[in-house]
Amino acid sequence: MNYHEMRERDIENTLNTSFENGLSNDEVRQRINKFGYNQLEEAEKQSALLLFVSQFKDFMVLVLLAATLISGLMGEYIDAIAIIAIVLINGFLGFFQERKAEKSLHALKELAAPQVSVLRDSEWVKIPSRKIVVGDIIKFVSGDRVGADVRILQSNNLEVEESALTGESLPVPKSTSPLSGENMNLGDLENMAFMGTLVTRGNGIGVVTAIGMKTAMGQIADMIQTAETMITPLQRRLEQLGKILISVALVLTALVVFIGVIQGHDLYTMFLAGVSLAVAAIPEGLPAIVTVALSLGVQRMIRKKAIVRKLPAVETLGCASVICSDKTGTLTQNKMTVTHLWSGGTTWNVTGTGYDPNGQFYHRDHRVYPNQEKALQQLLTFGMLCNHAELKSKEGEFIVDGDPTEGALLVAGMKAGMERSSLLQQFTIEKEFPFDSSRKMMTIIVRDKNSQLFAITKGAPDVVVQRSEAILWDGKRQMRSRELFDKVDETINELATNALRNIAIAFKPIHSLANLTEEVVEKNLTFIGLQGMIDPPRNEVKQAVKECLEAGIKTVMITGDHVTTAKAIAVQLGILKSNDRVMDGKALNQMEIADLEEVVEEVSVFARVSPQHKLKIVKALQNKGHIVAMTGDGVNDAPAIKTADIGVAMGITGTDVAKESSSLVLLDDNFATIKSAINEGRNIYENIRKFVRYLLASNVGEILVMLFAMILALPLPLVPIQILWVNLVTDGLPAMALGLDKPEDDVMKRNPRHPKEGIFARGLGWKVVSRGFLIGIVTLFAFMISYKQHPDYLAYSQTVAFATLVMAQLIHVFDCRSEKSVFSRNPFGNMYLVWAVLSSLVLMLLVIYLPSLQPIFHTVPIDMNEWLLIIGLSALPTFLLGGSFLAGKKR
Ligand code: ATP
Repeated sequence: MNYHEMRERDIENTLNTSFENGLSNDEVRQRINKFGYNQLEEAEKQSALLLFVSQFKDFMVLVLLAATLISGLMGEYIDAIAIIAIVLINGFLGFFQERKAEKSLHALKELAAPQVSVLRDSEWVKIPSRKIVVGDIIKFVSGDRVGADVRILQSNNLEVEESALTGESLPVPKSTSPLSGENMNLGDLENMAFMGTLVTRGNGIGVVTAIGMKTAMGQIADMIQTAETMITPLQRRLEQLGKILISVALVLTALVVFIGVIQGHDLYTMFLAGVSLAVAAIPEGLPAIVTVALSLGVQRMIRKKAIVRKLPAVETLGCASVICSDKTGTLTQNKMTVTHLWSGGTTWNVTGTGYDPNGQFYHRDHRVYPNQEKALQQLLTFGMLCNHAELKSKEGEFIVDGDPTEGALLVAGMKAGMERSSLLQQFTIEKEFPFDSSRKMMTIIVRDKNSQLFAITKGAPDVVVQRSEAILWDGKRQMRSRELFDKVDETINELATNALRNIAIAFKPIHSLANLTEEVVEKNLTFIGLQGMIDPPRNEVKQAVKECLEAGIKTVMITGDHVTTAKAIAVQLGILKSNDRVMDGKALNQMEIADLEEVVEEVSVFARVSPQHKLKIVKALQNKGHIVAMTGDGVNDAPAIKTADIGVAMGITGTDVAKESSSLVLLDDNFATIKSAINEGRNIYENIRKFVRYLLASNVGEILVMLFAMILALPLPLVPIQILWVNLVTDGLPAMALGLDKPEDDVMKRNPRHPKEGIFARGLGWKVVSRGFLIGIVTLFAFMISYKQHPDYLAYSQTVAFATLVMAQLIHVFDCRSEKSVFSRNPFGNMYLVWAVLSSLVLMLLVIYLPSLQPIFHTVPIDMNEWLLIIGLSALPTFLLGGSFLAGKKR
């Protein structure tokens, strides 16, 4: 028999599990050993060998290898072997860089993997979905992706969107009763839910019937391997630039060869020199270094609790000009404590902090006991019943498992000495209409000891007031009157002005369980009262908002909470300034996007909004040219998160759907983390600019020295192996170290970068050309001076040129650390760079002075006094340009 046909008892027996207690941890271990993990097999990855070989597929590298082969055949063994060794080392470097990039991308994917609530050893715990086994009892709520195939055991308005499997985009309501029929379509199996489908509404519990490749999804897994866009705009731009640079490098090297031959150089020598120059000048390593810089940056972000799900976001982060942030939990701590209660004109205060269930009730400084105050007792009881939260204690601290708002209501009840478990013996919950952010309410239907049915609704006060036809006042039910409800409104406003988040509680008798819908139940209610809770702002947010402002980034609060509460907190955090506007959901409803565009830049608080409004806000801001980061956690937030330039999902409270739509996940749900990520994003971009600048200027220098020498009818200033060596050691190591540089002090004091800005913007092109030109000139100069003194000793002058080129680049690398002046930064601020430069220096000295290396690199020892000339000349490009006003002006 199929699971959809079975009764619950039979399923429990077949799967050898317990719906009440779940599986034991021992049993789970055995099942994992026997049946494996709950995962889909991944498409095959590129093998290491293939990746290594692909490092040599570059056309110029192949030409170089061919040329080397010829020189080997002609008897130049040392040259041939040395060149091949350098090409191999280069290949290895590229291989390791790409491997590292690949690994860190994979690790990122793992981190973003969804978590599932399962019942194990009688306790609900959260585990990664790959650890689910058949027979597990799992819970899902709206926004979750179902982790395995399950038979539904409990459904509260549960609806699941199964388009990934069935193509049907409308959500399907799910129920629990057995179905008859053997060969039913997936789409008709109303009591089953399938791996990878999406809970769009309600909540439910199910028992796992299949995992991994055995699930319906597993059977079509091959078809749904989805690829994320992992290439960033900058990488794309660099790729295009790379093509241009290759052409330029090829033309120039061809020119070098051509002029060299005309000036009487030997064709073969010129060919090998030309090819080496081309290999050196083509920045083939650039894309790999960019990927490494990006992925290292991404790892730094993880340490700061931000996970980048889509690599392009790293760059976009640096362009963000507006952050739209949820209030609850992101700007505030999400640690709620009920401090005020109100019913029928009476206000009570409650003492206590956090979720500690110890506290006392007071009315006008007199202690009161809730069991002696009927209205208070009822308010607390209903708040506890219409509630899913659980209070747990962990390492001596009380924590809430579930919604913090409900946690606060639970704790308030416990302070009055009540327990949810004993309430559940007096009241049976028959049905539930779960909370959603659009309705802003939750309702349960309960049956009391006398079999009387009634609904308990809790929700946003203004919404509940609208749905109420009566109010409890002095223990009596009074029909709606202007006078009484004005008092309710006054109280709501008063509590909200004190930054309290308020929940109203109401009830209504019900006659029958048949045909109940939210629309029918949640009207004509009787209003009981209010519970007001504090949710203190996070300590670090105020400073973060200020820093964002200095960085040209505006913070906008978007919240489902009451306008007055939102305003009070926005003022505390420095988000709402005197000239800013506050707008509510009603106003938003009446506006088209075009209308909103007119005013959107003046608004810094949107309150009482529904998730649907967020999309409108994002679009209006984008139409005004802003790059928008938007936070969210629920299913309904997904469209806005997807549309925003940087969709940000909450790691703790966020649903799977929100996370999947996002490009950034905040592990701590904290606004300040977005600021850190932006900071890091800007830094990564600046670092990429730094090494692009360094590498290209070095290449310009290398080409020009050769070109000018040929034009001036001089001998070759550098031999091929020296050129290749400079490319590998002098260019490679410091460039990597620049990728790890710390940001300049003012990186968060500049305005956001324009997203369309080219890589050479803000004077970078000029810097590359001017520095490169001077590096070429000073190298040529050093060569010419030395050649004039020792016309019969070419190897000596070539070694001097080699040393000057290396030194000029190693000094210039410090200039690349700043967009301003080389003197604006402490040269020891980046110790990676200091080590990279020192090791390049030592390697250069070895190449020059170690007798065994001299024949390989065609070098000879240089006299000590020659070094004065070399150092003096090689410092020129940097000190002439890097320290001058020309460098600083172009910001
Ligand atoms: P934010 O959008 O900043 O996260 P929020 O949590 O206030 O803020 P919603 O979750 O949409 O936004 O809640 C809107 C309102 O609904 C709240 O102000 C509160 O009055 C009410 N509310 C919140 N949680 C519940 C709940 N679990 N049950 C009933 N009502 C709730």
